[in-house]
Amino acid sequence: MLASSVLPLMMFVQSAIPMKATPLQRWRGVHIMAPNPDGLPLLKRAITEALVPLGVNVIVLEVNYRFECQSHPELRMEPALTKAHARELAALCRQHNIRLIPQFQCLGHQSWAKTTFPLLTKYPELDETPQIPQDNPGIYCRSWCPLHPKVNTIVFALMDELIDAFQADALHVGMDEVFLIASEQCSRCKGKNPAELFAKAVNDYHQHLVKKKKLTMLMWGDRLLDAAVMKYGKWEASENGTAPAIDLIPKDIVICDWHYGLRDEYPSVPYFQQKGFRVLPSSWKDAKAAVALRDFAERHATEKMLGHLCTTWVNGADFARALLGEGEASESAKQAAQALRACFGM
Ligand SMILES: [Zn+2]
Repeated sequence: MLASSVLPLMMFVQSAIPMKATPLQRWRGVHIMAPNPDGLPLLKRAITEALVPLGVNVIVLEVNYRFECQSHPELRMEPALTKAHARELAALCRQHNIRLIPQFQCLGHQSWAKTTFPLLTKYPELDETPQIPQDNPGIYCRSWCPLHPKVNTIVFALMDELIDAFQADALHVGMDEVFLIASEQCSRCKGKNPAELFAKAVNDYHQHLVKKKKLTMLMWGDRLLDAAVMKYGKWEASENGTAPAIDLIPKDIVICDWHYGLRDEYPSVPYFQQKGFRVLPSSWKDAKAAVALRDFAERHATEKMLGHLCTTWVNGADFARALLGEGEASESAKQAAQALRACFGM
């Protein structure tokens, strides 16, 4: 009796209110490379004038060594952001209900083109491939050795400073495109299983960030995907034996599942959710591909789907110029801004 009398009302309520929040009502994220200090005012304006109106509520700011760390001043990459800069940006984001998540690129990406980043120039003993010359001929990016007894002490100190400076409740540890792992050149890693080595690194960072410091940990997902199974290329999925690590790491890590090309299907999106991970599908500057990934993810969303992350891969000031339509923005920044608007535009 009761059921039949309330049923029409319930049906009305259900039709008026979506059964669950759609992904884009949740994390609307943008990944930005930290600008130089003199680009910070422009980025702040772009946040207020462009990102807030687009409903962006998460900013992943990739800082890496561009920070005036006190624990290891020898590892600063100039021009570096100061703690005061970080606090100002954090305050602005808080004011607009934006979750600001700093990123410190771990394990791989320790060089770019001919430039090797400070950790491996100052501490060459931490290098996974010490025999490769410092200007990196023939490789994509250097890696640090996940088994070196000294490496975590140093990088945890850097992470802790970023977390404190940005008053963050989450950290993105990167970990994409790690091609150099279990190298023959490393006496500690030689002959070991790449998936177990990769998982050890993930678990070490999780122990520090999640278990000890009670933060949320984010990472890129590509090394956890088997390229042969997923039919992705060797960048956005693994051809170097790391994929089984997916079953050796905690499920409370947020996986940023990046795919930048237009495809009919993105099988990793349901796969990560089935494995029990929260997923943040991540796109780049091809607007059609970004929207395709967003829509595919919406169709395959479970309660593990967090929303969407637009990457930019340009300096934050360059991206700000593109968003504001001021000054000379690079073509890449303009395209990234356009893709962002395509994904999050009202
Ligand atoms: Zn090693």
